[in-house]
Amino acid sequence: MTPTARKTILCPTCRKLISIDEARCPYCGTVKPGSWMHNNPVSRLFNNPAQFIKGIIYVNAAMFALTILISFQSLRLSGNPLHFLSPSLLSLRLLGATGTFAIDNLHRWWTLLSASYLHGGILHILFNMMAFRQISVLIIREYGIHRMFSIYTLGGIFGFWISYLRGTPDTIGSSAAICSLIGAALYYGKSRGGVYGQAIYRQIGGWVLMIFLFGFMIPGIDNWGHGGGIAGGILLGLLFGYHERKKETRLHRTLARLCVLATVAILLWAIGSGLYYYTALH
Ligand SMILES: [Zn+2]
Repeated sequence: MTPTARKTILCPTCRKLISIDEARCPYCGTVKPGSWMHNNPVSRLFNNPAQFIKGIIYVNAAMFALTILISFQSLRLSGNPLHFLSPSLLSLRLLGATGTFAIDNLHRWWTLLSASYLHGGILHILFNMMAFRQISVLIIREYGIHRMFSIYTLGGIFGFWISYLRGTPDTIGSSAAICSLIGAALYYGKSRGGVYGQAIYRQIGGWVLMIFLFGFMIPGIDNWGHGGGIAGGILLGLLFGYHERKKETRLHRTLARLCVLATVAILLWAIGSGLYYYTALH
């Protein structure tokens, strides 16, 4: 007798090997683990957290390259290292910088999300991506990949919204979103307590101190965006909960998938409309 070839998959929740036509995962009870709901291209993105983080970094790099290309004519190689390979303000506005200019004049509310994927210089993007790699590992470990991406996306929007309310004309950068991960880490450390929680709280608290120290020393840094991001991250951490308190639920997974769809749609819109206006202007 030949063994029947049954298709096996990894359970989307517990990652154990199960049969695709299982009604419920025998290990964790996830309903219909083989359904399309759990096995579409968007949900599969979350199957490999390390790859997902790389993907976000690549998207940031691609958006940066595009702003550099658009502002090629005005590309400056000034003495200030912070200005090395700086995209022009026009290229950033075209591709979705946020603030009172974009929102009050152009009603581009979607820039609250797109601005997180734009950077003002090579050091700006390098520092942010290095910080993102570090903090995302911690947040994925304690909250899971889905909650991490929702905190990143929604916390970034919240940070830029606060910055907009404070009247910032133009703002960009992933630091508001990264600050929301930092806020979620602060909440985790404080809420968990114990030796480990306190160590996290102290270490991340040190980061926050540095962020504001640099923020007030270096001109042009969006402190309201950073502060708003941190506050948003604390609130989202409290709202979502972390592994030790609450496992990732279907709601968390659905929200993260919606954040991916919104990010992809908004960035494609930003690129499409940006290139359209760029060619119209030239
Ligand atoms: Zn399972």
